[in-house]
Amino acid sequence: MGASDERDSGTVGGAPEAAVVDEVDEVTRPKEGFLFCAACSHVIGHVEDRIEVNGSFLHTCTNPYGYVHHFGCHREAHGCDISGGHHAADSWFHGYSWRLASCGNCSTHLGWLFEKSGEHFYGLILDRIQVG
Ligand SMILES: [Zn+2]
Repeated sequence: MGASDERDSGTVGGAPEAAVVDEVDEVTRPKEGFLFCAACSHVIGHVEDRIEVNGSFLHTCTNPYGYVHHFGCHREAHGCDISGGHHAADSWFHGYSWRLASCGNCSTHLGWLFEKSGEHFYGLILDRIQVG
Protein backbone atom coordinates (compact mmCIF):
# COMPACT_ATOMS: atom_id res chain seq x y z
CA MET A 1 0.00 0.00 0.00
CA GLY A 2 2.59 2.53 1.14
CA ALA A 3 4.94 1.65 -1.71
CA SER A 4 2.25 2.11 -4.30
CA ASP A 5 1.34 5.52 -2.90
CA GLU A 6 4.94 6.66 -3.23
CA ARG A 7 5.13 5.45 -6.80
CA ASP A 8 1.95 7.33 -7.67
CA SER A 9 3.19 10.63 -6.38
CA GLY A 10 6.48 10.08 -8.22
CA THR A 11 4.67 9.57 -11.50
CA VAL A 12 2.66 12.73 -11.10
CA GLY A 13 5.84 14.75 -10.84
CA GLY A 14 6.01 15.57 -7.16
CA ALA A 15 4.41 18.05 -4.86
CA PRO A 16 6.65 21.10 -5.57
CA GLU A 17 5.41 21.37 -9.14
CA ALA A 18 1.79 21.16 -8.05
CA ALA A 19 2.41 23.94 -5.54
CA VAL A 20 3.80 26.21 -8.24
CA VAL A 21 0.80 25.55 -10.45
CA ASP A 22 -1.50 26.49 -7.59
CA GLU A 23 0.38 29.70 -7.06
CA VAL A 24 0.39 30.68 -10.72
CA ASP A 25 -3.27 29.87 -10.99
CA GLU A 26 -3.96 32.19 -8.09
CA VAL A 27 -1.99 34.97 -9.80
CA THR A 28 -3.58 34.48 -13.21
CA ARG A 29 -7.04 34.69 -11.77
CA PRO A 30 -7.33 38.36 -10.82
CA LYS A 31 -10.77 39.82 -10.44
CA GLU A 32 -10.22 41.55 -13.74
CA GLY A 33 -13.11 41.33 -16.12
CA PHE A 34 -15.64 40.28 -13.58
CA LEU A 35 -18.93 42.07 -13.26
CA PHE A 36 -19.94 43.13 -9.77
CA CYS A 37 -23.13 44.38 -8.26
CA ALA A 38 -22.49 48.11 -7.79
CA ALA A 39 -24.39 48.05 -4.51
CA CYS A 40 -22.68 45.16 -2.70
CA SER A 41 -19.78 43.96 -4.91
CA HIS A 42 -21.29 40.51 -5.35
CA VAL A 43 -19.85 38.83 -8.46
CA ILE A 44 -22.53 38.76 -11.15
CA GLY A 45 -20.79 37.54 -14.26
CA HIS A 46 -17.86 38.16 -16.58
CA VAL A 47 -17.21 40.50 -19.50
CA GLU A 48 -16.37 37.47 -21.67
CA ASP A 49 -20.04 36.56 -21.58
CA ARG A 50 -20.98 39.74 -23.40
CA ILE A 51 -22.95 39.06 -26.54
CA GLU A 52 -24.63 41.02 -29.27
CA VAL A 53 -28.39 40.80 -29.63
CA ASN A 54 -29.99 42.29 -32.73
CA GLY A 55 -26.51 43.44 -33.74
CA SER A 56 -25.63 45.32 -30.60
CA PHE A 57 -24.23 44.68 -27.12
CA LEU A 58 -25.70 47.91 -25.79
CA HIS A 59 -29.39 48.59 -25.72
CA THR A 60 -31.45 51.45 -24.44
CA CYS A 61 -35.00 50.84 -23.38
CA THR A 62 -37.64 52.94 -21.76
CA ASN A 63 -39.88 51.07 -19.38
CA PRO A 64 -43.61 51.76 -19.01
CA TYR A 65 -42.85 54.16 -16.15
CA GLY A 66 -40.65 56.31 -18.31
CA TYR A 67 -37.30 55.22 -16.89
CA VAL A 68 -34.57 54.93 -19.47
CA HIS A 69 -32.28 51.95 -18.98
CA HIS A 70 -28.97 51.43 -20.71
CA PHE A 71 -28.11 47.78 -20.54
CA GLY A 72 -25.65 45.30 -22.00
CA CYS A 73 -26.45 41.79 -23.17
CA HIS A 74 -24.74 38.81 -21.57
CA ARG A 75 -24.94 35.12 -22.29
CA GLU A 76 -24.82 34.26 -18.61
CA ALA A 77 -24.95 36.06 -15.28
CA HIS A 78 -24.66 33.40 -12.65
CA GLY A 79 -24.68 35.84 -9.78
CA CYS A 80 -28.24 36.90 -10.52
CA ASP A 81 -31.38 35.63 -8.91
CA ILE A 82 -34.29 35.32 -11.30
CA SER A 83 -37.68 36.13 -9.93
CA GLY A 84 -41.21 36.97 -10.89
CA GLY A 85 -43.32 35.76 -13.75
CA HIS A 86 -42.71 35.89 -17.46
CA HIS A 87 -43.66 39.07 -19.25
CA ALA A 88 -43.92 39.47 -22.98
CA ALA A 89 -41.03 41.54 -24.28
CA ASP A 90 -42.41 42.36 -27.69
CA SER A 91 -41.48 46.02 -27.44
CA TRP A 92 -37.82 45.19 -26.66
CA PHE A 93 -36.91 41.84 -28.21
CA HIS A 94 -39.52 40.26 -30.38
CA GLY A 95 -40.49 36.75 -29.35
CA TYR A 96 -38.80 36.92 -25.98
CA SER A 97 -40.32 37.06 -22.57
CA TRP A 98 -38.49 38.58 -19.64
CA ARG A 99 -38.18 37.97 -15.91
CA LEU A 100 -36.51 40.15 -13.31
CA ALA A 101 -32.82 39.56 -12.61
CA SER A 102 -31.63 40.74 -9.22
CA CYS A 103 -28.38 40.55 -7.31
CA GLY A 104 -28.12 37.12 -5.67
CA ASN A 105 -26.72 38.78 -2.58
CA CYS A 106 -28.48 42.09 -1.94
CA SER A 107 -31.51 41.70 -4.26
CA THR A 108 -30.91 44.99 -6.07
CA HIS A 109 -32.63 44.90 -9.44
CA LEU A 110 -29.82 44.51 -11.98
CA GLY A 111 -31.68 43.75 -15.16
CA TRP A 112 -33.65 41.05 -16.89
CA LEU A 113 -33.43 37.53 -18.14
CA PHE A 114 -34.83 37.36 -21.67
CA GLU A 115 -36.05 33.96 -22.77
CA LYS A 116 -37.57 32.30 -25.78
CA SER A 117 -37.68 28.63 -26.70
CA GLY A 118 -34.20 27.25 -26.16
CA GLU A 119 -32.51 30.65 -25.94
CA HIS A 120 -31.84 33.15 -23.24
CA PHE A 121 -29.65 36.10 -22.41
CA TYR A 122 -29.35 38.64 -19.67
CA GLY A 123 -29.74 42.37 -20.02
CA LEU A 124 -27.70 43.99 -17.25
CA ILE A 125 -28.24 47.67 -16.44
CA LEU A 126 -24.90 49.37 -16.90
CA ASP A 127 -24.99 51.79 -14.00
CA ARG A 128 -25.85 49.00 -11.55
CA ILE A 129 -22.88 46.90 -12.56
CA GLN A 130 -19.19 47.50 -11.95
CA VAL A 131 -16.47 45.90 -14.03
CA GLY A 132 -13.47 44.82 -11.97
ZN1 LIG B 1 -25.76 43.22 -4.68
